[in-house]
Amino acid sequence: MPPRRVIGIDAGGTKLLGGVVDEQLVVHHRVHRLWRGADRSETLDIFIEAVDEVRAAAPDVEAIGFGIPSLVEWETGVSRWSNHLPLADVPFRDLMSERLGLPVVVDNDANMALLAEQRSGAARDARHAVLVALGTGIGSGLLLDGRIYRGATGVGAELGHIVLDIHGPDCPSNCPGRGCLEAFVSGNAIGREGARLARERPETVLGRRLAAGREISGGLVTELGHDGDQTARLALAEVGRRLGAALTGIVNALNPEVIVIGGGAVAAGELLLGPARSVVAERALPPAREVVRIVPTHFGDESGMLGAALLALEAT
Ligand SMILES: [Zn+2]
Repeated sequence: MPPRRVIGIDAGGTKLLGGVVDEQLVVHHRVHRLWRGADRSETLDIFIEAVDEVRAAAPDVEAIGFGIPSLVEWETGVSRWSNHLPLADVPFRDLMSERLGLPVVVDNDANMALLAEQRSGAARDARHAVLVALGTGIGSGLLLDGRIYRGATGVGAELGHIVLDIHGPDCPSNCPGRGCLEAFVSGNAIGREGARLARERPETVLGRRLAAGREISGGLVTELGHDGDQTARLALAEVGRRLGAALTGIVNALNPEVIVIGGGAVAAGELLLGPARSVVAERALPPAREVVRIVPTHFGDESGMLGAALLALEAT
């Protein structure tokens, strides 16, 4: 019998990645889309078009799993709130199921990524694991005692909105909080720290790029850091230490076996993770700090898509 196949769709803040995935997590067809400022109805149409495209290549798919950058009410499949896409109070699961004529599961994108990493990636077989995805903002998922933890109404585990500084800046994510972790650590925060150092040091490569009108993004800082640029490395190390301070709190609170770091910022590799690990090793409570592994994602930007497919396979 051929393996069962489903569609996994991972929608991030800027792009959608999807594919036909079988039970062995082999991806058969892929699809990409960019949101480009689409409104609610256009956004929903983009989801439909993406599914139709891969489904044309694999008409045997049995179900569809969606990971979306929203606070998803798990029981109802309603997207309650999203900073990244116009999906507030959208009955996403029912709407997609009706329009696509297949069983649909939907969850927060970081929960999906954690599921894939736990099944056969960087958190393989762990029962207590945390995923922190550093991109435009912070996505996160918790696996506690072998189960994805979603909170009372399914919208919990938002580690990016843990408050690090009660007098800190407004949260960049349109959240009502101040001094949230997301204000200090993310792909965008690497860019902000790089820009701050560039202003202080106009004679450096980063300083000259800034003076030439170039945007100092997290990606640029990471690229220069890998090329050996010391100022870029300072920016990455500073954000890495802040990440380590936040992970210290998570280690103390939850005693996880493994923390998986994902999202675009993980491209910085050890330049970011090394300083984070040092802070945890120094400041977290023993013996929790001796247990925890802090590692990059195994599946990279495909973990969300694979996890969405896994959930669809399990639910049908
Ligand atoms: Zn916040």
